[in-house]
Amino acid sequence: MNQYIVEQKLSLAESLILIVEDDPINAMVIEDLLSGLYQTKIVHSGESALKFCDVQPPDLILLDVVMDGISGLETCITLKINTQTQHIPIIFITSMHDQDDQNRCWEAGCVDFVAKPVNGVTLRNRIKSHLTLKLQSDLLRRISFVDGLTGLYNRHLLEDVMEKFTSHVNRSNQPLSLMMIDVDWFKGYNDTYGHLEGDECLKRLARAIKDSLQRPTDMAIRYGGEEFLCLLPDTDHKGVEKIANLMLKMVNDLAIEHKLSEFKVVTVSIGIHTISRSKNTSLVNTLAKTDEALYVAKQLGRNRFSTYVTKS
Ligand code: GH3
Ligand code: MG
Ligand code: MG
Repeated sequence: MNQYIVEQKLSLAESLILIVEDDPINAMVIEDLLSGLYQTKIVHSGESALKFCDVQPPDLILLDVVMDGISGLETCITLKINTQTQHIPIIFITSMHDQDDQNRCWEAGCVDFVAKPVNGVTLRNRIKSHLTLKLQSDLLRRISFVDGLTGLYNRHLLEDVMEKFTSHVNRSNQPLSLMMIDVDWFKGYNDTYGHLEGDECLKRLARAIKDSLQRPTDMAIRYGGEEFLCLLPDTDHKGVEKIANLMLKMVNDLAIEHKLSEFKVVTVSIGIHTISRSKNTSLVNTLAKTDEALYVAKQLGRNRFSTYVTKS
C-alpha cells in the first residue's frame, strides 16, 4: 500500500518491461528483440497483467489489444484509473490499422502504439523514448514528495495517501492510527545552538521517528518545520500507544543536549488518534483531533503522548 514513491531506477537497463501478449510465440519474439537491453517479464492475459502490476509495477507495458478475457483496452483503462499504476506508460502492440481502433487506443490512455508485425528498430526506439521520460518523471515525483532535509515524505503526499488509507479502513474494517509529533521547546534549541544545529537535530529525530515504526506499511511524513505525522494502518489504540512509547524512548535515548529543556535533552510530544470504519471522516477533521491530543500532551508537561478521547 505504501508504494507512493517508486524506487528510482538509475539506468534504462534496470527497467522492467511487462509484455502482455496471449500468443506465446509473439511474446517470445518481442522478448528476443529486447533481450540484453531491459529486464522483461511475459504474461498472457489482461487478468495476469493487472495482478502482476499490483505486486510489482513495471516501468513500461507492451500490451496486445485483442486478447481473450479482459481486452487490452480494458486492461489499459483499469491501470490508468488506479493511482498506483497510472504513471506506467503503455504501448499497444496492434494489428488494427483502422482509425477508429487507433482512436480507442489513445482514449484508453496509451502513450503510443506499434503495428504488428513488429519492426524491431521502431519498437526499441519507441520504448527508449518513453522509458527515458518515465525515469525523468519518477525522479521529479520523488523530489516533489520527499522532504529535502530529513528524507521523509512531505505533506504534499498527505491528501492522496489519506484517501487511500481511509478507504482501506472502510474496506478492511481495520482501524487506522495517526500520530502527530512536535519537538518540545525547539525554538529554545535553535536560540541556544543555532539553526544549523537545529537542522541536524531534526534529521536525527526524523530517523528515530522512522525507526520506531515497525511495519513497511507505516508511513512517516514531515508535516511542518518541527512537526511530523505518522500513519499506521491496521493499528488500534493499543498498538499505536506501544509505538508512541517506543518513539519517546528512542528520542530520549538519542540524548541530544538541550539546556533550556526541563528534561535537559531534546524530547517530543505526541498526539494520537485512531479512526475506525465510518462514513464521514474528513482529513481536516481527523488531523484536528490528532492535533488536539498533541495539545493535551503539551499541556500535561511534554515528553509524553496523549490519546484523543471521543466526546459524547
Ligand atoms: P513547544 O514545546 O510548545 O512545541 O515549543 P516550540 O519552541 O517547539 O514551539 P514553537 O512553535 O514556538 O517553535 C517552533 C520552532 O521550530 C520555531 C522554529 O525556529 C523551529 N523550526 C521550524 N522549522 C525548522 C527548521 O526547518 N529548522 C530549524 N532549525 N528550526 C525549525
Ligand atoms: Mg510546532
Ligand atoms: Mg515544538
